[in-house]
Amino acid sequence: MRLPLALCAASLAFAAPVAAQDAAPPPSAEAPQPAPLPAPKLVLAISVDQFSADLFAEYRQHWTGGFARLLSGAVFPSGFQSHAATETCPGHSTILTGARPSRTGIVANNWFDLSLARPGKQVYCSEDVTDPASSPKDPVVTPNFLKVPTLGDRLKVVDKRTRNVAVSAKDRAVMMMGGHATDAAFWWKKDGFVTLKGARVDKVVAADVAAASKAAADTIAAGAPEVPVPDWCRGKDRAFPIGGGTIGTGHFAVRPGKDGDFRASPRMDAATGALALKLADDLKLGRGKATDVLSVSFSATDYVGHGNGTEGVEMCIQLMALDQTLGTLFAGLDAQGIDYVAVLTADHGGYDAPERLDQQAYPQAVRIDGTMSLDALTPLVLAKSGVAAPADGPLLYADGPFGDFYVSKALSGEDKDKVVAALVAVAKANPQVETAFTAAELAVTPSPTGSPQDFTLIQRARASFDPMRSGDVVILLKRGIMPIPKGTTGYAATHGSPWDYDRRVPILFWRKGYAGFEQPHPVETVDIAPSLAAVVGLKVPAGQFDGRCLDLDGGARDTCATPTR
Ligand code: ZN
Repeated sequence: MRLPLALCAASLAFAAPVAAQDAAPPPSAEAPQPAPLPAPKLVLAISVDQFSADLFAEYRQHWTGGFARLLSGAVFPSGFQSHAATETCPGHSTILTGARPSRTGIVANNWFDLSLARPGKQVYCSEDVTDPASSPKDPVVTPNFLKVPTLGDRLKVVDKRTRNVAVSAKDRAVMMMGGHATDAAFWWKKDGFVTLKGARVDKVVAADVAAASKAAADTIAAGAPEVPVPDWCRGKDRAFPIGGGTIGTGHFAVRPGKDGDFRASPRMDAATGALALKLADDLKLGRGKATDVLSVSFSATDYVGHGNGTEGVEMCIQLMALDQTLGTLFAGLDAQGIDYVAVLTADHGGYDAPERLDQQAYPQAVRIDGTMSLDALTPLVLAKSGVAAPADGPLLYADGPFGDFYVSKALSGEDKDKVVAALVAVAKANPQVETAFTAAELAVTPSPTGSPQDFTLIQRARASFDPMRSGDVVILLKRGIMPIPKGTTGYAATHGSPWDYDRRVPILFWRKGYAGFEQPHPVETVDIAPSLAAVVGLKVPAGQFDGRCLDLDGGARDTCATPTR
């Protein structure tokens, strides 16, 4: 339970004298309390995709730009995406909803709906499955799967003058942070920024988005030189063999025509930040009567981590460049004279490539072998269960070698139970698997409470379990198992595990006039929305958040005081 900071400070200050002089008179005056600040005019919510607490700890001493400003605010170095399915869509769904994926309904980036007629039965988290033009690989984008409102959605209900804007390289980040009622929502698609199908776009905005897209497309067409290596990054500029190539020495030159080189580089984040600033200016965010919301998710850190792992020169260049991009964004909002509260966090953490971990760290990490592929699992599960393969379609559906596994609907209830039991047994016998849970077990597990670092594995899995969308079996790999097979080119490392390298992320708040402080106690990303709701005076009925309000001001103001509306 949260104690008002003023009360804690007063108790501590006066405890000693009162104890020493038993009959001392009560203190006559407390330190003067600063006047409460009015609601800020803009909430700037930033996600840095795959920005682990480990990266934050590694780089914080080197930042001088936007990150340095955030470090002068409220610093929670141990924030948790507390659930097991540490992927982009579930993670982004927690940040501005205050709800865990079990409540947002966003259980993974991709899940399966076996009742769908589409081949493969796969569903992407921010697609419109009712649109025949949509597929998981080329989605018609919507926020429809998100079961709860975002902060922007809630503010718009209270005051329709609120503008709710979201930008990212990734559509799912835009949908999960922006939510159901966005006034502008843009993401990157191959060579330009795009928006929701059928969305009405303001003329000025359309012109600025077209200009941003053209600038990026011109860079891609012409190519671009390497990004300079900051001095202190040079020690990381060292090649590690991986598969057929190496990682560790990339400098982000863009080969002419290669949009992927642009996307997976600091240039993508710079373009995202510049567009966010343009939209803030075009739509006069923070300058109206109501509080506006601007969500920005920077995706390049994730692309860099996947392509190169987390500990090479690539990530060093990327995070030093992002520091500058954030500084430019803040300076731009300052120049517009906006009173804003900023928060920065991440959708999940990340882990380095096993080849580098193997040389630099203990315990070793290893790449997954082929024994958890559906091709390998299916005959073992059939043999163990004694069930005949379904006449139509596969026995099992899954998006990879871990996470949600679904059993064919063509089986009878009894046969399905046998297959579920056999799959759990086969998985648990696999030396790369930590454990496996059935949907039935997860359904009767209470939502976890208490410190997220102490959640058991089944509690972590419960926090991203939705009985309508999750698999019949949820399989968790052992710590340090990288679920990318040896020899995969261009894809060095990933996230998605229930382990803290993927769950633990920084949470940083900043507002002009707030005193800074650092609180190392574990908190959760679902605490962000209740904290911001209190600051902007938004009353939310009890029980709608999984998180709680955090104090954002190191001074005596209680930023969690009862909201006024
Ligand atoms: Zn992500």
